[in-house]
Amino acid sequence: MRVSELLAPTLREVPAEAEVISHVLMFRAGLIRKAASGVYIYLPLGYRVMKKVMQIVREEMDKKGGQELMLPIIQPAELWMESGRWDVYGDELFRLKDRHGREFALGPTHEEIITDLVRGEVRSYKQLPLLLYQIQNKYRDERRPRFGLMRGREFIMKDLYSFDKDDASLDVSYRKMYEAYSRIFTRCGLKYRPVEADPGAIGGSGGTHEFMVMADSGEAAIVYCHNCNYAANVEKAEAVVTDAPSGEDMLALQEVSTPGVRTIANLAEFLNTGADRLIKALVYQTEVETVVALVRGDRELNEIKLQNVLGTQQLFMADERTVTDLTGAATGYAGPVNLKGARIIADKEVTLMRNAVTGANKTDAHLINVNPGRDFTPDEVVDIRLVRAGEPCPRCLGELVEARGIEVGQVFKLGTKYSKALGAKFLDENGREQLMVMGCYGIGVSRTVAAAIEQNHDNDGIIWPMPIAPYHVIVVPVSTKDEEQMKLALNLYDSLREAGIEVVIDDRNERPGVKFKDADLIGYPLRVVVGSKALEEGTVEIKYRRNGNVHTVKLEGAVQFIKKIVEDEIAEHTP
Ligand code: ATP
Ligand code: MG
Repeated sequence: MRVSELLAPTLREVPAEAEVISHVLMFRAGLIRKAASGVYIYLPLGYRVMKKVMQIVREEMDKKGGQELMLPIIQPAELWMESGRWDVYGDELFRLKDRHGREFALGPTHEEIITDLVRGEVRSYKQLPLLLYQIQNKYRDERRPRFGLMRGREFIMKDLYSFDKDDASLDVSYRKMYEAYSRIFTRCGLKYRPVEADPGAIGGSGGTHEFMVMADSGEAAIVYCHNCNYAANVEKAEAVVTDAPSGEDMLALQEVSTPGVRTIANLAEFLNTGADRLIKALVYQTEVETVVALVRGDRELNEIKLQNVLGTQQLFMADERTVTDLTGAATGYAGPVNLKGARIIADKEVTLMRNAVTGANKTDAHLINVNPGRDFTPDEVVDIRLVRAGEPCPRCLGELVEARGIEVGQVFKLGTKYSKALGAKFLDENGREQLMVMGCYGIGVSRTVAAAIEQNHDNDGIIWPMPIAPYHVIVVPVSTKDEEQMKLALNLYDSLREAGIEVVIDDRNERPGVKFKDADLIGYPLRVVVGSKALEEGTVEIKYRRNGNVHTVKLEGAVQFIKKIVEDEIAEHTP
């Protein structure tokens, strides 16, 4: 490809709404343009990268026995009503009507339609397991589309669905996908971690892992163990209680005046005590009840864990009025002692505390020497707190470390959730009807491309890992007006192409500085400069984008030299 003919409009300025570097660089390097909020045009270079990721994904899915098909984007509302998700999915679902007034959705995911297909076509255990996948645009009317391709409203996803005869067989399918995902992100040249995740409201029969590309800009917080291979999304990370119950003597319960002291920090200061001696009482509402969640003052509540305990669709902090109705006090003075009208859910650590401090359910007052068991009894004692760095690992008690990640993929055991709702059954070995056991497995292809940039860039631009670079090499003739030089550059370009190297030649009549800047911005892994030395000494300069190393190489050996680097680097990322 000649750069003079390539639609890769590079820009110096940064789009105002770009908050993350991948968005900035994809825009500036001429990889994407915005069509609407969360909806993007993939320009030729951007789409080449997408296609490379898709190809890697496809090869690994096929290797595990996945069969590629193509499901419709437009899905009838009836199927979504059958699964119950027409109502549950909410505003994220793009809905539309045809000319007859029939309702449809644009697929945000495809469990319904694939289960409908399989229930109609599969009758016997002999046809299972079945692994079906597609790579296609998905549509989600995200509340906050942002970060460019990271959170779009139209994006490319690979989604595979597994159908098995029982849980043991699902485990095998799940393991296959877990392995395939590990190979995919390795082959893309990315640093990633599979982490245990929260199955959330989707429920399902159990396990789920998210694949995280490690990057400080990631929306997900994860913890992992220094010592063993435990890693989890903080939403899911299990807290370990290592403290023994306090041996302190229980003192007499006492009310103290605390005028205007509403926050944990103020209270600790006012009473001259540690936050770990305070009990934080947080009032929440769900669609069915009001609950009070208790955690130690120095801890944070994990709302996901609380919601899982409650098993509700909704969970939100109670408004002032609800708090006052419940406690008879202004906000900031709630406590579990003599509290009626709300379920009390205590974190495990709270029950170990002695002579603690809580709100008195009275404005401007707290209670001291509060002892769980003596002064109040929680309705439930569970793990509802957020785990932080430095805490012990739930597997080996090693030290946990915190990091941020971008969720690029997820593997999920669905169990019989959809087969039950839609009646997807088969006849087992004994001729008995059974529900199929399902799994679903997604990879955000467009998000993976953005994540790759978050992890691979410098001040000058993108640094593509070789396996997903739009082209491997750019040949830059220093002076396009110099016919001899241009001829040598074109010869090299042709030879590289013949050798199977993906190459562009910057034949634009621009200053070398401009060409070098563009090449760095776009991030071609290798740059070959054909200048005056090509004629005088028969040599060219080859520069590695990643580390800036420059090699002077004889023209006749240049193709071999480049081919080796390209092949070695791809091989390095092949597990
Ligand atoms: P998130 O929690 O980030 O909203 P999700 O858990 O809803 O994602 P899944 O339903 O598991 O996403 O979708 C599978 C994959 O699709 C995700 O792992 C992610 O890589 C990608 N993905 C999801 N939503 C988007 C989006 N709005 N834009 C781009 N990629 C997305
Ligand atoms: Mg997910």
